[in-house]
Amino acid sequence: MEGKNRMEQGNVLDGLHEECGVFGIYDFDGGNVASSVYYGLLALQHRGQESCGIAVGDTDGPRKVTTHKGMGLVNEVFTPEILENMHGDIGVGHTRYSTAGSSTRENAQPLVLNYIKGTLAVAHNGNLINAPQLRRELEYSGAIFQTTIDSEVIAYHIARERVNSASVEEAVSHAMNKIQGAYSLVVMSPRKLVGARDPYGFRPLCIGKRDNTYILASESCALQTIGAEFVRDVEPGEIVSISPKYGIVSDKSHCLPKEKAARCIFEYIYFARPDSHIDGVSVYGSRIEAGKYLAMDSPVDADLVVGVPESGNAAALGYSLQSGIPYGTAFVKNSYIGRTFIKPKQSNRESSVQVKLSVLKEAVAGKRIIMIDDSIVRGTTSDRIVKMLRDAGATEVHMRVSSPPFLYPCYFGTDVPAREQLIAYNRTVEDIRQVIGADSLAYLKLERLSDMVGGLPYCSGCFTGKYPLDPPTEDIRGDYDK
Ligand code: SF4
Repeated sequence: MEGKNRMEQGNVLDGLHEECGVFGIYDFDGGNVASSVYYGLLALQHRGQESCGIAVGDTDGPRKVTTHKGMGLVNEVFTPEILENMHGDIGVGHTRYSTAGSSTRENAQPLVLNYIKGTLAVAHNGNLINAPQLRRELEYSGAIFQTTIDSEVIAYHIARERVNSASVEEAVSHAMNKIQGAYSLVVMSPRKLVGARDPYGFRPLCIGKRDNTYILASESCALQTIGAEFVRDVEPGEIVSISPKYGIVSDKSHCLPKEKAARCIFEYIYFARPDSHIDGVSVYGSRIEAGKYLAMDSPVDADLVVGVPESGNAAALGYSLQSGIPYGTAFVKNSYIGRTFIKPKQSNRESSVQVKLSVLKEAVAGKRIIMIDDSIVRGTTSDRIVKMLRDAGATEVHMRVSSPPFLYPCYFGTDVPAREQLIAYNRTVEDIRQVIGADSLAYLKLERLSDMVGGLPYCSGCFTGKYPLDPPTEDIRGDYDK
């Protein structure tokens, strides 16, 4: 699964990665959208930092599509000169973290396909569980793939179906009959912007509007950034097509009964930005709730509640609000590193946490600390952070985790790894407490997840092993060109 860059880059805090962020925009008044895509992608940077790309098209002129993609962060890949040379009133953008297919420039999105009806650009967030089979079928019928990602399987299917469909949204609908798994899609056709969300709604997708411009984005935070108002979420299973002639047209023929939806609960716990709302639930609010439940279910006497930045902060505030124990800041984060950086070699790996975080000694010395983090994956950094607090003079360190223990991998667009790599695999909470060296340890109870998201149906496969769809029978995360 790990591409070359993955070996060199690492999440400093042993966290998980989202697969991608998608963005699409159509200005019905014909204005240039390239810079809005750029700012939208900046707001979705947390969803993927390996590569990014923008494709813009002109719906009225020669229908030329201009694309630029590259490895790195949005503000590294795009310069003012590059953006100034991108013209069009319709566009899509993508930020990528690879959970299927390696991290290379060829695998960067959007994928742009020229075919008989014009040019299609496709941006995808999620993982297909039947991509290897679909890919083989396509290859046997003569398809030649340019990339090793499952998203190209989707793009191919849409392009093929388009030839025999009355519209691009009908082609997307036909493609959805074949693809299975997690996908939020934004598709740019010569005259329409199309968004689709898989029937389980694993990954988010919402619609925004700014004057006469319509937007599709993974998260509502991207709408705020470009001064657009939130219109609504795309429903699980829904296809929306956006065009000046018909406005927003919805096709719900793939929607399942609402209780079958399986939104990734980890979007709320960790992946999404706290200023986003997903399916009517505030991400920030859900994290506050998680902290409150931790305080109710696993109280402990202490002097200060602190969060491991950034995603532990809201839960720490919730814990403080519920318990009455003061909330404070214990860590100073180096914000210039980003979520990934060049990881120190195995021999000095432990120091990577200190590259990112340092402890405010005056805040913690002589105090009993409750430290809240969103998750423990491999446990390779929690022990380090606990030790840093002790070294700074904390007299006790109690760890609370605002999610249940990870026990199973994810096949739906995140990199929750194989069981053997998870610290909770074959260990009790007491075993884990000993490994990380905390005075006490408690996780959010599984039964609290539903309340945390206001009763929305959700996926919790990585905690329970019960997935909404059967897990794939072959490796979907590896490179198809192996
Ligand atoms: S298995 Fe876990 S990480 Fe994957 S979609 Fe479900 S809740 Fe999200």
